[in-house]
Amino acid sequence: MSNKIASQPSCVDPFEEGMISQGEALKRIEARIHPVLACERLPIRECLNRVNNEAVKSPRDVPPQPNSAMDGYAVAIGSLVEGDIAELDDVGTAFAGVPFHGDCGPGQCVRIMTGALIPNGTDAVIMQEQVEIGDDGKIRIDSDHRRGENIRLAGEDVRQGETVIEAGVRLSPADLGVLASLGIAQLQIKRKPVVAFFSTGDELMSVGTPLEPGMIYDSNRYSLHGMLSGLQVDIVDLGVVRDNPQSMLEALVNASAQADLIISTGGVSVGEADYIKPALAELGSTEFWKIAIKPGRPLTFGQISNSIFMGLPGNPVAVMVTFSQFVAPAIEMLSGATLRPPLLFPARSLDRLRKKQGRTEFQRGVATLDENNRWQVGKTGKQGSGILTSMSRANCFIVLPDDNAGVEPGDEVSIQFLDWVH
Ligand code: AMP
Ligand code: MG
Repeated sequence: MSNKIASQPSCVDPFEEGMISQGEALKRIEARIHPVLACERLPIRECLNRVNNEAVKSPRDVPPQPNSAMDGYAVAIGSLVEGDIAELDDVGTAFAGVPFHGDCGPGQCVRIMTGALIPNGTDAVIMQEQVEIGDDGKIRIDSDHRRGENIRLAGEDVRQGETVIEAGVRLSPADLGVLASLGIAQLQIKRKPVVAFFSTGDELMSVGTPLEPGMIYDSNRYSLHGMLSGLQVDIVDLGVVRDNPQSMLEALVNASAQADLIISTGGVSVGEADYIKPALAELGSTEFWKIAIKPGRPLTFGQISNSIFMGLPGNPVAVMVTFSQFVAPAIEMLSGATLRPPLLFPARSLDRLRKKQGRTEFQRGVATLDENNRWQVGKTGKQGSGILTSMSRANCFIVLPDDNAGVEPGDEVSIQFLDWVH
């Protein structure tokens, strides 16, 4: 007889039957989520970071008319004298918002301010620093100028009919400015998804009560609340749900009545899944995925009526990793926003990093710029999935792909800055 016990498949195995990649999990999520349909019409100030519902076409040219880019003198290039200095009569002034209404004839010029309409008869603006004013009041200009100089053309920023903001764009401060420049005061935007979340666990106590033996404080609800607060969603905190099928069932029914997305943490490890599975099976469809990432391998994905359910692992670091890699993109899909791939930057590792092949790891790091302005990254101490301080000290994930088998100091790695660290 062997004196060793054959180990069952477990979360310490690098690869296991039925595992899917992160990319495959994201594809499955995308195939199962429908964006919210409802919209609201809001004043553009309230549209910041919200999702634009329909492509915006410009009703006008911006700028609407040609105008001056400089303070100076508007002239006809034909009034200048090749190889010599022309002496022109100053026949008036054009201010921004107060045009010069006369005509500017040959041998004449018009004093002009930035933003003022280009006067009739002129086709260039000469900077005031490039002219001389004679004792007789004549404006002296050499011939070193060209037609169109310092003139902003009508429509050079936006042409009438041009699409300026596509559907599915999250509106930036610049977008709000562009909308205002088109004269658009209100916009149709997608309503915010409602996201409900709860923690599961008989060991959990809420902050504000003394800790009893064998218990721990619930931290996941706070990190989740923090991450959700940075997104454009309405948040419903459903508290702690105890480890029994009845409580779970009630929580899910309650959550699905009010939320587009339900997030739970915990209760998906071996032996605990027993009460989540039947509750979900009773209410809707469920899939249990083993994703080839560390931390955060198990992910439950389900549908309950019109709500999406995402069951995250219980370990505090795994919660934050799976939120950033799966829940945040799922919220973008629900919001009707066009997904943008994560921004990864190359960085030089300062540390030796242990890593098994066959899964993508999200170690926690602190990225800084070296003396050559290139990113370098060190890990934030112990990397266990229960070590939440490894996350609070970090400003980035060190993303080690499936085929990476460990990192030596000086090796290049990819880093992904944490969305919620600025
Ligand atoms: P579970 O998946 O429920 O077995 O949880 C895995 C580990 O994460 C256990 O050590 C739990 O005590 C811990 N954990 C689960 N939920 C929370 C929570 N809300 N806050 C802090 N730790 C938790
Ligand atoms: Mg638990």
